[in-house]
Amino acid sequence: MEIGFIGLGNMGAPMARRLLDAGHQLLVYDTRPAAVEEFVALGAQAANSPKEIADRVETVMTSLPSLAAASAVATGADGIIDGHRVRRLIDLSTVGAQTAADIDARLAERGIARIDCPVSGGVGGARRGTLALMVSGPAAEVDGARPVLDVLGTVFFIGERPGSAQTMKLANNLLAATTLAATSEAVVMGVKAGLDPAVMIEVFNAGSGATHASRDKFPRAVLPRTFDFGFATGLMVKDVRLCLAEAASMGLSMDIAEAVGRVWEVALTETGPDSDFTAVVKPIEAAAGVTVGARARDRDDATTRAGQS
Ligand code: NAD
Repeated sequence: MEIGFIGLGNMGAPMARRLLDAGHQLLVYDTRPAAVEEFVALGAQAANSPKEIADRVETVMTSLPSLAAASAVATGADGIIDGHRVRRLIDLSTVGAQTAADIDARLAERGIARIDCPVSGGVGGARRGTLALMVSGPAAEVDGARPVLDVLGTVFFIGERPGSAQTMKLANNLLAATTLAATSEAVVMGVKAGLDPAVMIEVFNAGSGATHASRDKFPRAVLPRTFDFGFATGLMVKDVRLCLAEAASMGLSMDIAEAVGRVWEVALTETGPDSDFTAVVKPIEAAAGVTVGARARDRDDATTRAGQS
């Protein structure tokens, strides 16, 4: 199938790579020329704008970092909305329910269907094709997109209402943000008391404290202090803010989410939007006056386990 792919970043690049490897023909666009060149070398064709892509293919996929980028690419000048051939947009970005519904309505005026498809599972899941794909949109369109989506992971149909998959994604990321922040606080507390952080993670993972943060993020990116898991702090804060805004729009107050939001705002201020989100532990360490690192005795074991998981 001919697919247009816009946004070849941490998530978009490995997803686009899987589509190429599965035999699809890709026409790609990104504002970073180097990202496009990499895909041309792999056999994709390059386009000069989202509109050019939408002039040349029926199915366009996007994986973009902000609400502004997602809106501009879909409905801005030289956007998908002005393409002559495009029939459907599959948006893999996290943009929140309101933005999704707004873009959906604008595209619908031009007869372009929009499938909302935020994803979870990180860069590793994108590489392996094991993402959780949260999908909302017209059921017939979703069925038609299955051969493409199945290459990327497992499809969970959330509903037909535009934006409902975004609500699902924000709930998921609230939990991811919470467990990473809470695990950071728990480990820092232990280190302050003299415990070995590698042993702490091992105990969590054998006990009831286990989460994705302790099973994957700490062993891979915090204990070895590489802070390179592949998701930017700025994007995590975007998602937590979107979640809080969505809850507020429904008249909900969520105490835990608000506290978690404060922790992430501090991380954003202290470590910057481009830091890896695993750096959320750093301001917590600084406040406690300790550093979480695998003890020399345990580091090799922890690294081996991370490599095997
Ligand atoms: P990223 O910043 O690594 O990649 C975004 C890409 O979009 C970059 O290559 C950038 O150059 C390109 N881009 C930006 N503006 C553009 C525009 N106007 N036109 C064309 N290209 C443009 O971001 P990411 O981590 O790949 O995340 C993408 C989306 O996926 C976000 O919505 C994020 O919240 C979501 N997401 C990320 C992860 C993760 O682990 N990284 C996991 C799940 C969901």
